[in-house]
Amino acid sequence: MRVWLEIDMDNLRYNLEKIREYCGDREIIAIVKSNCYGLGAVEMAGKMSDFGVRTFAVANYEEGLELLQGGIRAEILVLGAMFEEEIRAAVEKGFQVSCNTMDELRFIRENKLPAKVQLKVDTGMGRVGFTPGEFQRAWEYCRAEKIDVTGVYSHLSSADVPTEEARQHTLSQIALFNELTEGKDTRYRHIFNSGGIVRYREYITGNAVRPGICMYGMLGNEGVDGFKNVFSMKGRVIYKRTVSEKTYISYSRTAWIEPGETFATISVGYEDGLRRDFSNKMDVLVHGVKCPVIGNITMDMSMIKLPAELARTTAIGDEVTVYDEELIGGIKSLSACSWEIMTGIGRRVYRLYKSGGQVYKTLKWMKE
Ligand SMILES: *Cc1c(COP(=O)(O)O)cnc(C)c1O
Repeated sequence: MRVWLEIDMDNLRYNLEKIREYCGDREIIAIVKSNCYGLGAVEMAGKMSDFGVRTFAVANYEEGLELLQGGIRAEILVLGAMFEEEIRAAVEKGFQVSCNTMDELRFIRENKLPAKVQLKVDTGMGRVGFTPGEFQRAWEYCRAEKIDVTGVYSHLSSADVPTEEARQHTLSQIALFNELTEGKDTRYRHIFNSGGIVRYREYITGNAVRPGICMYGMLGNEGVDGFKNVFSMKGRVIYKRTVSEKTYISYSRTAWIEPGETFATISVGYEDGLRRDFSNKMDVLVHGVKCPVIGNITMDMSMIKLPAELARTTAIGDEVTVYDEELIGGIKSLSACSWEIMTGIGRRVYRLYKSGGQVYKTLKWMKE
């Protein structure tokens, strides 16, 4: 193998238990959009079902279909705003659909679609949803037209941001949500994402929560205290050289090493999801020792500087960890963002699922 992800299902289970500890008996709507943040939606949702999760949320109709075709039998909520043909298809499959406008509700009514609807209200995210002013009207319309409203929800924009301004905004979103949804008894009433669950426990509200990234051990650009690391991305040393003169490394000559120093080339590049922006700004792990990435990350390979103690002992084929909770936390780039890092993990990267320390399943991009 050249590059792979190790996904620890025992730690996933641990994090889910932690979320239950934080959220009491609220229903967990597990967010598995974007191929479960790159980890593999069907396998992850299957395991989460084993761990007691009954409702999953995806970004669009096709992601829901993938779960269904993968044998997942659970409630599926489509989060994203949808085009009319997608609403029709999703309802046909029994998915719950999010509604953001009166036009969508009218479309459902005029076509007599047997839809399960969750009304989304924008309490300060600025993306989609009914405005607070429209929300009451949407609710009343559904009641009058006998549209089945299974849920009401909203989304926090800044719960992971550690500033006082973000805190004030988050608290005002939670307060507005409580005010708008008071008395609207539905099966699902929710606003808490990972940031809310991890950082605003004392304000938790509704009867459901929507954890995504924290199930995978991350929030913002680092790991979450008290949660476990779920994924590590690894590659291998494929070349090594000790130089006898000052040597520039990689495209555009952004870094060099001195005579007597050693660099190694690893089998991971930006196609695999090692972001080029992290060139010269991150460390990887070789035999448990942190080594800096030097020079520009290239499409399929990257270079690292081996410290003296590793220069001789490191061999071609040795394993290199490029991403885990700690390494991502150490990236010195403003664009380090765990959501984008995870969803950017490439197609070539094998997904290895582990339980009890053993790999029980491997997903490969290339069928042999
Ligand atoms: C992605 C998403 C979530 C999960 O966000 P995390 O920060 O990963 O927990 C929850 N709700 C909505 C509407 C989302 O789009």
